[in-house]
Amino acid sequence: MKTIVVGAGPAGLFCAYELAKAGAKVVVVESGSAVERRRCPMKKMGYCAKCEPCNLIHGVGGAGLFSDGKLNLDPRIGGDMLQFMKDDEARRLIEYVNNVFSEHGAKGEKTTIDERAGALIRKAKMAGVTFIPIVQRHIGSDMLPDVIESLKSYMEALGVEFVLNTTVRDIDVHNGATKGVIVGRRVIKGDFVVLATGRGGAQWLARKCMQLGIPTQHQPLDVGVRVEVPAEIMKEVTDVFWDPKFYIQTGQYDDFVRTFCTCPYGFVISESYNSFICTNGHSMISVKSENTNFALLVRVALTHPVENTTEYGESIARIASTIGGGKPILQRFGDLKAGRRSTWERIRRSYVKPTFTYVTPGDVSMVLPGRIMADIREALETLNKVIPGVAEDSTLLYAPEIKFHALRVNVSKQMETNVKNLFAVGDGAGVSRGIVGAALSGVVAAREIIKRCRNG
Ligand SMILES: Cc1cc2nc3c(=O)[nH]c(=O)nc-3n(C[C@H](O)[C@H](O)[C@H](O)COP(=O)(O)OP(=O)(O)OC[C@H]3O[C@@H](n4cnc5c(N)ncnc54)[C@H](O)[C@@H]3O)c2cc1C
Repeated sequence: MKTIVVGAGPAGLFCAYELAKAGAKVVVVESGSAVERRRCPMKKMGYCAKCEPCNLIHGVGGAGLFSDGKLNLDPRIGGDMLQFMKDDEARRLIEYVNNVFSEHGAKGEKTTIDERAGALIRKAKMAGVTFIPIVQRHIGSDMLPDVIESLKSYMEALGVEFVLNTTVRDIDVHNGATKGVIVGRRVIKGDFVVLATGRGGAQWLARKCMQLGIPTQHQPLDVGVRVEVPAEIMKEVTDVFWDPKFYIQTGQYDDFVRTFCTCPYGFVISESYNSFICTNGHSMISVKSENTNFALLVRVALTHPVENTTEYGESIARIASTIGGGKPILQRFGDLKAGRRSTWERIRRSYVKPTFTYVTPGDVSMVLPGRIMADIREALETLNKVIPGVAEDSTLLYAPEIKFHALRVNVSKQMETNVKNLFAVGDGAGVSRGIVGAALSGVVAAREIIKRCRNG
């Protein structure tokens, strides 16, 4: 029996890996190209880092290849895997995924949770902040291409066929069961299809779900800024927890704000979409900056009559791009508090040197809605009680940082849709929000397919 995996991000790759190891026949169809160490077109670094043009490129490895390679080894982070399985099973699978990364060359030690976590939990609690200690591991954006290449070669040796530079246009469905996928004018026949199209393919997937009568639902959106401070300010925390997770419930609006994707000694970057631009961050093993950056995000859930959080997020991002002349906005926290825009002159006087300069110095409050702005200010000042210095006047804020989450596709615990033998996994199906969660969902679908193949 043959399985077609659509998309070669972490979800698709781990699904194909698991199937291939069990001796199943697998074809991976990926609209991007092979793993390449492209030279960065911005020529900022000697290889492809994640600057604006590079973000537009996808290929084997998916968004995961261009990510930071922070592995969050906890089922509560990166998509709630506990919706699909029990805690102990999720932790076993996480360990399995982590080991596969190691076998294919991922370096980087796991963080450990010891008495320092207890001390930080206490300190945070006293400031009204919740600190979530989790085990993590950092591969580094510069090391990921080798790891992905190794995984791909291993799978090819097991007989997995990679059909690259090929976009799946449609899903072949007859009598409520899938029969393969359509690329160009040809059908690639398969007994099982696993859709692992990532966030980039989420809109296509949503359309297909509508056509096929597969139920979906909107998910909350995360909107905020990328904060950049001198690395020493956060060193005490980031030396122990690479990507510390702080949760804050704001007083004024009772909104949920969290830190996300902390990049110690990292770089701020842009994330390009067709009609707007957002910010993000990454850090490498071989090149270090003097700063640490992290996202500070407000959770926004919309209810009747408007539930389309993606549309809301996009409209915020479009305003930001208009105000910034097609670039993200950069503002010093001190300027924001003083109610004035930042200028290059003011930023140069600051002791925090921005690691990303493809920006327009301006006023973040012209971009983000008032409620989100109030939440960000309050959360940063609260966080300052746990990490003194993060809310200094010189702290840099880049806007907008938006985490769009795909429509959640209704899938079973085995990741199957209501179309027989059609599975949907990873970020594109809204079941994960990170490398490990995406990989896990791919493994779950693969194991179900293996079971069905064995049972005939
Ligand atoms: C800048 C950045 C930094 C990040 N840092 C981290 C991090 O440090 N840690 C972490 O856990 N997560 C991180 N993430 C998130 C992580 O990359 C994603 O959660 C993960 O890659 C999702 O995996 P996926 O397989 O579901 O989708 P993707 O990785 O998006 O892969 C989907 C693949 O499907 C292909 N595709 C889409 N549609 C089609 C089609 N119709 N036909 C054929 N192919 C198609 C795409 O080309 C793509 O290669 C980061 C993301 C970004 C953008």
